Amino acid sequence: MSALSENIEKFEKELEGTDCKLVAVSKTKPISLLQEAYDCGIRVFGENKVQELTEKHEALPKDIEWHMIGHLQRNKVKYIAPFVSLIHSVDSLRLLAEINKRGAQHERVIPCLLQIHLGKEETKFGLDESELVELLQHDDFSKMEHIRIRGLMGMASNTDDEQTIREEFKSLKQLFEKVKSTYSLPQLELKEISMGMSGDYKIAIEEGSTLVRVGSAIFGARNYS
Ligand SMILES: *Cc1c(COP(=O)(O)O)cnc(C)c1O
Repeated sequence: MSALSENIEKFEKELEGTDCKLVAVSKTKPISLLQEAYDCGIRVFGENKVQELTEKHEALPKDIEWHMIGHLQRNKVKYIAPFVSLIHSVDSLRLLAEINKRGAQHERVIPCLLQIHLGKEETKFGLDESELVELLQHDDFSKMEHIRIRGLMGMASNTDDEQTIREEFKSLKQLFEKVKSTYSLPQLELKEISMGMSGDYKIAIEEGSTLVRVGSAIFGARNYS
């Protein structure tokens, strides 16, 4: 058995009996390796760059669900709008308005997650709680018919301190429950909490993750050249 198929099998076993699904993060990896993962049964792939996502979508079987997990620029939404299954990284009303517009053009409703800023690091993308509330209460939001907010996404701080990571995941779960019990709009269909990566997915599952985004633990370390 190849290392890849062993890794995939390991994750399948770990996720068995949980409410959590695997997003196989294949960024920087060649199409041949994605095909190999597909042959092992993987149907949900995550990418963080629009061009790479589009090229891989064109080259690979059409029953794959493609998730956009990286920062998304408004001028690139049009390239993924026809096919993307879930955008994890929506962090502004302006971006959401563009996704809504492109969804309308393609006569579809595009599933999205709102990315929440966890922890104290300044550099990370994402909404804080007050920005989230502002977005959800905005008139423009209540008029969008071609997006569906399926949940929240967050990335824990880049630290070895397990307790910090756990607290951050707990806060995302709490925010999710709060939004779910406070807001009732046709745009909101809150089911997913996207949290956990190769280094912290176990903690994320314990704290209620429904989507773990795992790259290197499946495909091996990335080479950025
Ligand atoms: C790259 C990436 C991941 C996966 O990272 P690994 O540590 O390789 O598992 C998850 N989420 C996002 C947003 C990423 O950009």
